[in-house]
Amino acid sequence: MQDLVQLAQAHAKEAGFDLCGVTPVREFPQLAYFVQWVEEGQAGEMKYLESRNEHGELKRASLANAASWARSVIVCALNYNTDQPYSIEPAPSDRGWISRYAWFKDASQGKHTDYHDAVLRRLRDLEARITVAWPDPIRTWCYVDTGPVVERVLASHAGIGWMGKNTCIINEQLGSWLFLGVILTSVEIEHIPMPVADRCGSCTRCIEACPTDAIIAPYKLDARKCISYLTIEKRGEVPEDLRAGMGRQVFGCDICQDVCPWNGSVSEGHRAPATKAVEFQPRQELVDPSLEWLAQMSRDEFNQVFRGSPIKRAKYEGLRRNAAIAMGNSGEVRFIPLLEDMVKDGDPVMAAHARWALERLRAACS
Ligand code: SF4
Repeated sequence: MQDLVQLAQAHAKEAGFDLCGVTPVREFPQLAYFVQWVEEGQAGEMKYLESRNEHGELKRASLANAASWARSVIVCALNYNTDQPYSIEPAPSDRGWISRYAWFKDASQGKHTDYHDAVLRRLRDLEARITVAWPDPIRTWCYVDTGPVVERVLASHAGIGWMGKNTCIINEQLGSWLFLGVILTSVEIEHIPMPVADRCGSCTRCIEACPTDAIIAPYKLDARKCISYLTIEKRGEVPEDLRAGMGRQVFGCDICQDVCPWNGSVSEGHRAPATKAVEFQPRQELVDPSLEWLAQMSRDEFNQVFRGSPIKRAKYEGLRRNAAIAMGNSGEVRFIPLLEDMVKDGDPVMAAHARWALERLRAACS
């Protein structure tokens, strides 16, 4: 009988993935913690993580709850690292930070690239190749981020890497700048990959570097404190006690990955390799973007600039709110007139954050 693992790995390269592994479906012990994490409210406002099946069971708690027909999972990873700066390298104080996964444009088309599309296109290619090559009819489902699965747990069991203390999947050669995609299949496999050894060792850099203390213990992240969550998923007001820690992050946060030795740094003379994917070319205005530009952006400009970009998830109000917080944390008194205008904004959430930023800047220069 043909081997699904070999078949998937051979075709994954042709489909454009950097890594591919396969795990049989079983009860993964890490998913018990996922249930606890959700029940403790650590998922915050991300209600989609709490979706349940017709029996009221959390879909993400077990593949049996979400796709009882699935017998194996193909997990693929795509490197999105670039040669651009890291968030921990000095940047002008009037600039913000957008997480590197949202910088991209398709070099061939000059358009924004949403990584979901880039990964899904490759997954569908791989799915088609496997379906054609497999001797029997098989059932499959492709997911990139949006499915009822916890990709990181599946990736660790499929041999892609280990789950680091910052909860990202880390591969010894490629680091952790990895987009993950999964294909559930109805094919039974006996092969159980060797678990990838945890190479975090005694390192605690990510835990110490997180400005909002979101990594509450090794391998445990309270999403409600995570800057990625606060800048992208959180609607309305950001809790005041977390705003100072957000620094100049306006969309997402890369700090816990930037400090990771497996991703490297210039000072250490090593960097994780850059991606070969043509879609993942940085759009320069999004690398250290001007805070003034973001704060003064009209809704029409937002829709135009970020068409097809994951940044749209933060929404217009959210991105400007984040820019106000970043200006408050910048120490740049020249932002004061702009923030005074934003206090008069018709949106009370915007006005409240601008007021907070003004107070902070005035205190800094008094
Ligand atoms: S910074 Fe250190 S502890 Fe954190 S994920 Fe990387 S190796 Fe592990």
